[in-house]
Amino acid sequence: MDVEDVEAFNILCLPFELLAHVFMLLDGATIASVSQVCKRFYEVSNVKIVWQTLCFREYNFTPEHFSTWNTTYKIIYTKVLRKYGKLVGTWQPKINPYGGLLSITFNDGALIGTQYFAPPDPNVCAPLRQKKVFKITVDNDNITRLLCLKGKPSDVHPFQFTPGGSIDDFSFKCSKPDRHRKGSNKQEQLQQWIKEELGIDIQPCAVDYRLELLRIQFFINMQFDSSCNFRRLHIPTKRKPEHPVRPGLYKGTYGGHGIELVMVSYHDDLLHGVKVTGDPNVPADQLSIQAHINEPMILDRDNQYSLAQLEALTKEDVLVPVDKQKTRQPFIVPRDVMDRGMSKVNDEMDLTHCIGRYFATGLIAMDGFKHPSRTPSHFIVFNENMFAMLWIELHSISLYCRVEENLM
Ligand SMILES: [Zn+2]
Repeated sequence: MDVEDVEAFNILCLPFELLAHVFMLLDGATIASVSQVCKRFYEVSNVKIVWQTLCFREYNFTPEHFSTWNTTYKIIYTKVLRKYGKLVGTWQPKINPYGGLLSITFNDGALIGTQYFAPPDPNVCAPLRQKKVFKITVDNDNITRLLCLKGKPSDVHPFQFTPGGSIDDFSFKCSKPDRHRKGSNKQEQLQQWIKEELGIDIQPCAVDYRLELLRIQFFINMQFDSSCNFRRLHIPTKRKPEHPVRPGLYKGTYGGHGIELVMVSYHDDLLHGVKVTGDPNVPADQLSIQAHINEPMILDRDNQYSLAQLEALTKEDVLVPVDKQKTRQPFIVPRDVMDRGMSKVNDEMDLTHCIGRYFATGLIAMDGFKHPSRTPSHFIVFNENMFAMLWIELHSISLYCRVEENLM
């Protein structure tokens, strides 16, 4: 191409469809400025496919999502996605020591924030409980609306969103927290909360260790009801053939603390279970479980009748080569072990055998996370979605069940 040809070329001479294809390669901010150049560019910038492509490429926003919105791709992109689209994903409220789980998804013509809670103890296989807490959408006048859903359905009200120092942090602040109140006083709210946590109606004045813990949890969570900071949770999905269970979120039984959520991931020869929800003994974000997947063992039924028998076993007695790690073997709960939810599940599933057993440690601590230590445990696999931790010194066993809900 010589100089004359270059001068003769004018991008405006390109057919409309071709120009639209060029625009599809640009990012949203560039399209906005280019659309100011001339009438033709402005017209091209308004073509549906340009914005549809941008919405999908930058935010994974599909035609299926679009079908529930009552506006255009351009409005969705400019009024919602550009500022809030990166919020899609899973988040953890910064509430010490309890943590929590929030998922933000495209749903029903909005970006919806849904809080997830463990099922009532001891139903560890039951689905998570969920509560929609906010939505971000556009109204009929194409104005962006940030609405808090914590009150009655008829009483939505605005909230304030503040981005954090990175794309992995943000804060939520409700403008009318007094509209969240379900009961007329704190006692009624507490009673409602305890009912939801235990799945049964019970007088909160009853004297009980579990109720006392729930009371403390209720009052601390109440302090974060009107405003809370969140940080992004990355849920791992990559799994190698030697990994005994699928990575991701699990529900586990933690005795008096009820059911808590744990994130399972792999780090070389170690399986890590980090708490997503915690308690006053071992808070959220702590490494609850560390299993050595290069230290598998095989036990006879006769080895397992009591903890004393298990404690007497040395690694030399029971360790097997790594290639035998997935060996079906008998399993029983030793008779002197406190059963945490195992019997509840036993009716529905065969837990008389496991498909792998490994040396592990579990994190324990006094109230207030004082004197934390790692205690010898066995990590016992029933299938790729279910395992147990036998806490030998604690004389207890916890059962873990994979979270099946799709949070994305
Ligand atoms: Zn509110």
